Amino acid sequence: MKQINIEKLKVLKERIQKIQTQNIQFYIPQIGRNIIRFIKHPEADLPFVPIGYHYLTNVSVLCPLIVENRPCPLCEMADRLSISMDLTDQGLASHFEVSEKGAYWIIDRSISPTTPYLFLASSKVHLTLINYLIENIYGDFTHPYNGRDFILEKSKHGMYFVYTLTAFPNTSPLAKDEKELNEIFNKINVDFRNIFICQPNDVLKQIAEQELALKRQEINKTSDIVQLQEGSSDDFLKQVKNLGDELRRK
Ligand SMILES: [Zn+2]
Repeated sequence: MKQINIEKLKVLKERIQKIQTQNIQFYIPQIGRNIIRFIKHPEADLPFVPIGYHYLTNVSVLCPLIVENRPCPLCEMADRLSISMDLTDQGLASHFEVSEKGAYWIIDRSISPTTPYLFLASSKVHLTLINYLIENIYGDFTHPYNGRDFILEKSKHGMYFVYTLTAFPNTSPLAKDEKELNEIFNKINVDFRNIFICQPNDVLKQIAEQELALKRQEINKTSDIVQLQEGSSDDFLKQVKNLGDELRRK
């Protein structure tokens, strides 16, 4: 029997404490309209930090390639499968692909004027925001004086939540004065390495191999079912033929 891994627990405890001391709150938008403002720290060159997840059968894991810029066994698995000569394996490549999101600091105007939340924007919302910035559609909407608020609408479609973003027609200041502005910036001056921590590569390698084995097993099971159905239809045809032969004989 394996003993409880104290070293692992210490790492986890440290991570929880770090997040607690930084008092980071993740943003969960309300269903309906939310009025939010994206913030960029004056020292940052982007208003977000790229975050990648691999959504596997039973777990979702952070992608070290996107988060920490180091090799990712799951991305490597996706690459390897995509060029596989085995068509079944090739079809599995997309299952291992990373889903890229953006972690943004935001203020929810209806909650508190100086409490920043960390908002993990879905790939779709993230891409929309990047496009706004590249195309310069709303200027620098994170600007502390001439930025813009957005309406983030959250609705439920079946099992999923759908988000839409609409920019306010006018610009507005982020805070009411310099003091409030500094208060906000101090709160978002946080090292993201303490928040999004990837698992070591040997663990990720193991996860990748296990997931591949699981998916292959699933596919084998479905092909068994298909074969069974084909088998039974053969049997059925044989029965019909036998019945026809019998009737003719009569
Ligand atoms: Zn990855």
